[in-house]
Amino acid sequence: MKFVTRFAPSPTGYLHIGGARTAIFNYLFAKRHNGKYLVRIEDTDTKRSTNEAVKAIYDGLNWLGINSSEKVIYQSKNLESHVKVAHELLDKGFAYKCFLTSEELNDLRIKSRANGKPIKSPWRDNKCNSEKEEYVIRLKMPINGTTTIKDYVQGEVSVKNEILDDMIILRSDKTPTYMLSSVVDDYEMGITHIIRGDDHFNNAFRQIQIINFLNWKKPSYAHIPLIHGTDGSKLSKRHGATNLIDYRSMGYTSEAMLSYLTQLGWTSPEDNEDDYEFKKAVDLFSLEKINKSPAKFDIKKLDNINSKCLNKIDVEVVYKLLTERFGLVLNINQERRLKALIPELLKRVNVYIDLKDDFEWIIDDNFLCKETNNVKILQENNVIINNIGGLLKKCEWTKESINHCLKKFVQDKSLKFKDVGPIVRIALTGKTNAPDLVSIIYELGCTISLNRLNYKY
Ligand code: GLU
Repeated sequence: MKFVTRFAPSPTGYLHIGGARTAIFNYLFAKRHNGKYLVRIEDTDTKRSTNEAVKAIYDGLNWLGINSSEKVIYQSKNLESHVKVAHELLDKGFAYKCFLTSEELNDLRIKSRANGKPIKSPWRDNKCNSEKEEYVIRLKMPINGTTTIKDYVQGEVSVKNEILDDMIILRSDKTPTYMLSSVVDDYEMGITHIIRGDDHFNNAFRQIQIINFLNWKKPSYAHIPLIHGTDGSKLSKRHGATNLIDYRSMGYTSEAMLSYLTQLGWTSPEDNEDDYEFKKAVDLFSLEKINKSPAKFDIKKLDNINSKCLNKIDVEVVYKLLTERFGLVLNINQERRLKALIPELLKRVNVYIDLKDDFEWIIDDNFLCKETNNVKILQENNVIINNIGGLLKKCEWTKESINHCLKKFVQDKSLKFKDVGPIVRIALTGKTNAPDLVSIIYELGCTISLNRLNYKY
């Protein structure tokens, strides 16, 4: 049998990192079994669904590269089918028309709260229908016995049917509820595995009754614990960004995000490095290895993975990210310098946007360290800088010769490299925390380096 999974977001806000992780698990499970991973936009709540939210879902999934195997399904396009099933349930006696007014319902609610039992409408067993047009259709939940779900993550869990409420499946305006639409769509899309947040676990016990009544094949379930912050409480904005796409803006790569979110609640059976290759997860993913306790979102771990990913991806890719992000238009020399220095620069940052601080000294041919607090250091050491400038002028422009030249200067003057290196680095970059000095001199090139070293500060 071919496995089919789905990611079914409601387009009511941005794509939360928890949602993105659900999508990733669905994607991985389907790919692992050569199955299908489908995306269904649950947009039946017209008051809360927006086009921007739909776009945010697409943007997020595109960024991560986990797009639907087939055309995306919009739940709102399938309403007729949901309504038909509501009537089928009604005709077969598994549902009933409930004519309770809102006041009557309120009274029942108060009673139900007092006795701790779910609301049971008097219309449930009332054979005669009202003439009124205003009614909802409720599911006639079984009263006796228990419902058991064997969930891949939550284990085997049973609930007494008496606690299940006669949920509404068709509203008084004749629109279906999420509880019905979702089940009908899953059935029609041939979903074999429902992998979603455990905030829906309670819903599963109610939704499965529709499946039982209609004798549909039951899907398998995996309800994943929600993501927590490092303090152990449910992840919220106070822990940092929860919107997936914000991480793109902050300079994280999609590779790192995929790798990190995959590990957030799933343990690979192999002992792996944390900058886990997503391709590998496709080969190894299993629902059994989803952790039962909530995963903690740890930005430090993500930083670490992002830094490793940045150092692995092609320089051309990082260059493209930078130029697009910062709207850089570079000539051929500037481009060459930036590309040549990117690998060195990446060793020192977690997110690529932090390279921005280095653009000026790399890109600007005429850059001179004039405006920082470091100028004073240059003024005090102008002789040393100029001496080195003089020596480099005679030097063959290879990394070996530059290295040799610097070392010889230090030796001849009986100095230590740490007395000279930082000063030269400031003269060339304006900063103390710049990459390897020889690489800087070599990649900036003879003209630029000598200009900056032979200057009177
Ligand atoms: N639309 C629901 C949500 O965004 C998910 C429903 C489901 O996965 O069954 O929470």
